[in-house]
Amino acid sequence: MIEARIKQLRDDLNRYSYHYYVLDNPLISDFEYDILYKELESLEKEYPLFITPDSPTQRVGGISTGFKEHKHKYRLYSLDNTYSADELRKWYERIQKEFTGKVELVCELKIDGLAIALSYKDGLFVQGVTRGDGIVGEDITQNLKTIKSIPLKLFTSADVEVRGEVYMPKSSFEKLNAESLQNGEKVFANPRNAAAGSLRQLDSSITAKRDLSMFTYTAIIEGVDGESELPKTHWDSIQYIKKLGFKTNPHIRLVDDIDGAIQFCKDWETKRFGLDYATDGVVIKVNRLDYQGELGFTSRAPKWATAFKFPPEEISTTLENIELGVGKTGAVTPVAVLTPVNLAGSVVSRASLHNFDEIKRLDVRIGDRVLIKKAAEIIPKVIKVSETENHWELPIYLPPEECPECHSKLVAREGEVNLYCENPFCPAVLKAKLEYWVSKEAMDVDYIGPQVITQLFDLGLVRTPVDFYKLTYNDFLKLDLVKDKSAANMYNSIQTSLTKPLGRFITALSIKMVGKETADILVNEFLTLEDIMNASVEELAKVDGIGDKIAKSIYEFFRDENNKKMIEEFKALGFKFENTVQNRTNELSGKTFVLTGTLNSMTRDEAGDIIKMMGGKTSSSVSKKTSYVVAGVNPGSKLDKAQDLGVIILNEEEFLKLVGRD
Ligand code: NAD
Repeated sequence: MIEARIKQLRDDLNRYSYHYYVLDNPLISDFEYDILYKELESLEKEYPLFITPDSPTQRVGGISTGFKEHKHKYRLYSLDNTYSADELRKWYERIQKEFTGKVELVCELKIDGLAIALSYKDGLFVQGVTRGDGIVGEDITQNLKTIKSIPLKLFTSADVEVRGEVYMPKSSFEKLNAESLQNGEKVFANPRNAAAGSLRQLDSSITAKRDLSMFTYTAIIEGVDGESELPKTHWDSIQYIKKLGFKTNPHIRLVDDIDGAIQFCKDWETKRFGLDYATDGVVIKVNRLDYQGELGFTSRAPKWATAFKFPPEEISTTLENIELGVGKTGAVTPVAVLTPVNLAGSVVSRASLHNFDEIKRLDVRIGDRVLIKKAAEIIPKVIKVSETENHWELPIYLPPEECPECHSKLVAREGEVNLYCENPFCPAVLKAKLEYWVSKEAMDVDYIGPQVITQLFDLGLVRTPVDFYKLTYNDFLKLDLVKDKSAANMYNSIQTSLTKPLGRFITALSIKMVGKETADILVNEFLTLEDIMNASVEELAKVDGIGDKIAKSIYEFFRDENNKKMIEEFKALGFKFENTVQNRTNELSGKTFVLTGTLNSMTRDEAGDIIKMMGGKTSSSVSKKTSYVVAGVNPGSKLDKAQDLGVIILNEEEFLKLVGRD
């Protein structure tokens, strides 16, 4: 029994490793791999008789084919890992027993890339090799030469071997996958696989086109020039690595003991989502190099270091059904209904499948095991079919022909991947438009959500957004469980939205291809609703940021008799959009703001409204053109970027002073 289970685990893990390391196409998530690995490790500990040399617990990584093999001069190890703070404490206790006093630690981000060893002779780059199985790697020198953060010549003429992680920024990974998808080429499951696949191209000119970079974290110094002193701690060796000309990761901390290290892990558990590269944990290393020497290695990992792994972002589960959603534009989109799983701290039971082309590309079938992924604040998405034994026996999923709500025939529009319900009176489309009207991005109406809208709709009280403003206090009392206070809240919240800025009103209209950003561009350019409505296609298309297609869509929207009638009704109801425009000033004209972190006195959207009312602009990314970055509590990586570029940073108090609200 036990022997058979050990063999099963060993075979499964070796097969998963082959798909992960050699094919760059994992079959299961890292988290699931780690659970199986831990099971094997503990069974082998209890029954050492059944350990075989090909067990993954006895070896590092894997070796692939295609390049010249190279035996490493110094062995490259893996790292032990844990998902638990308690186990980190136990690791530290074991270490502390060996020494007197506190043992200082260095905490670094665990970059989810590919381990590489680079050799330099007299300060010149001579060879670059993958980790492989830690003893033998592959010589990929030519490909590594295309990576700009790998110096070909060091600042000093040292003889040194450095190790680091080659990675692909998340933004470049998304771009590469989008391009591959368009060209019908292979897409990668995650940035790590994309980096590995790009590095192992036999043609270096392909690698050169991929955006790869490297963080260096270890140096083995063989010879230094003259008077340079050799580092005695890991912290100092990182400073030395920087001085040689390598890029090191800036998020590193020297701590007195394990409590400091656990704090660093906690800090980065959510902060990591603000970075443009993937990190799957924190590496904790003993700082003193002489202590490292005394502690030594196991057969696959150093005893002086360990990795704390963050809760998984990816996991497999079963696809139970594919439901169809109908959006405000009539687009019908598939939604995955999943067997609930815990992912990154929350239970996930639904995920995005994007569109029907994507289902076809992934060949996802109801009943499959699928790999789902979640990054902070982003809806989980299905990234691929994971190992499903009976995949080929399951029926192929076919896109729907009718709208799931009103049963009109769905239409495929030229050049678009979605299928559309073109019935303007489809209840699902009408409800989606109403939901969008009250949403944070549009009119931001509190107390009215999808459930309230469904009830109002079913009672026949609301069909289009204008109807919201005709509702009386008594109408709200007709809803389930709604009493005096909440009826008053709903009524007031709707009525006060009559004074929202014009940009929000235009956004809320659900004009095809016009979101918040385009609505703001229109308001900045034309100032009044009248002028936007009267503009010709040519006048609209001339505006920076509005192309021909969007211009045509805006023009047609305001020529539609029903829409014209709706705007007249809004005016009759007392909508204040003209007043809002008159309130505009030009004090912030020409200034671009980026908002990051949480503000105490208002939401970021409200701060954005103030900026726009004063003639300024907001942007979602920091560049040299950014005038100010407003940083609230827990700012993201935008703050780091602002510091790098020397952009002026305002705290909330300074911002309020600038906009005259202090
Ligand atoms: P690992 O990736 O967990 O940890 C060791 C590696 O971390 C080092 O070799 C180095 O490359 C890297 N690293 C990143 N930042 C570092 C830093 N600052 N300092 C030192 N090292 C740093 O171990 P591994 O042996 O490469 O791979 C094993 C892991 O790979 C498993 O735990 C699993 O999560 C994953 N895996 C997944 C599958 C799958 O099918 N999904 C298959 C095999 C392996």
